[in-house]
Amino acid sequence: MHGKVKNIVKCDKCGRNIKINHKYKRVGDLEYRYFSCKRCGAVYVISVTDEALRQEIKKYQKIMEGLQTQIVPPEISQEAQLILQTNVQRSRELKEKYPLELKPWEK
Ligand SMILES: [Zn+2]
Repeated sequence: MHGKVKNIVKCDKCGRNIKINHKYKRVGDLEYRYFSCKRCGAVYVISVTDEALRQEIKKYQKIMEGLQTQIVPPEISQEAQLILQTNVQRSRELKEKYPLELKPWEK
């Protein structure tokens, strides 16, 4: 236990412990963040974003930054939660709709 445990996950396919090493791939408008298992090559997509979603994520981050430095009305905080939920949902949809296809050397 060296405080790095959170970066290790167990591969669903082969059971090997994978040290999460974030990788990045852009396909047209889509940005994928993923990591892969070095033993069996299983690929795990962390998130998929398109331009519209990235704008929404920025909007969310801006609100969250504001929340840390100033007192804002509760509506703003609620709006941020709503944006977050929408973003999570949207990312999930993109992930299902556009599965990541990798060349062997990109794994
Ligand atoms: Zn594996």
